[in-house]
Amino acid sequence: MAGDARHNVVFVLGPPGSGKGTQCIKISTEYGYIHLSAGDLLRAERQREGSEFGALIEEHITNGTIVPVEITCKLLENAMIASGGAPGFLVDGFPRNEDNLSGWDREMGPKTNLQFVLFLACPTEVCTQRCLNRGQGRTDDNEESLRKRIQTYNNQTLPIIKHYEKMNLVREIDTSADADSVYEQVRNAFNKANA
Ligand code: UDP
Ligand code: MG
Repeated sequence: MAGDARHNVVFVLGPPGSGKGTQCIKISTEYGYIHLSAGDLLRAERQREGSEFGALIEEHITNGTIVPVEITCKLLENAMIASGGAPGFLVDGFPRNEDNLSGWDREMGPKTNLQFVLFLACPTEVCTQRCLNRGQGRTDDNEESLRKRIQTYNNQTLPIIKHYEKMNLVREIDTSADADSVYEQVRNAFNKANA
């Protein structure tokens, strides 16, 4: 990574359909943070001609399981390098399990400054309906994949959020309301972190 200044990072976590992508776009517009969706980066790598990881990524996405951190972390780091300077990076949908957490801490911990974890909490039924209705053409927005994704989230991602709670780094926001009123609370969290 160029220079020796550590990059500000905010992890954005929450169940599928909690509004991570939607809120990240709003934050990015107002604060200039660069939005890096781990899922989008994996989908792009899956499509990339000549990628040796395409089939593996496809299998994980369909099953709602988690791609090995070596792949995801490298994609995130490459995107950070490619983006040039920014006040910070919104890392959306990562780290999702113990493997993600330890891999990130090892590879990226020393190069980054974790400002806080934005936890977008939302009841499962609301999230599921949002995913089934959002019509983004995703191969994993069907009832069966969603069940598996939510199970992975409950079993593997919630413990990661708890880990950061113990470090006092979590800002939790209920996202069952409409996107604009949720964003009012999101910007409070950002203003505090950057005050
Ligand atoms: N995924 C992964 N590692 C990550 C992020 C995503 O393995 O760090 C995979 C995982 O299979 C997940 C899928 O990509 O179910 C979709 O992730 P995305 O973040 O796009 O879903 P969201 O939570 O935003 O609905
Ligand atoms: Mg997303």
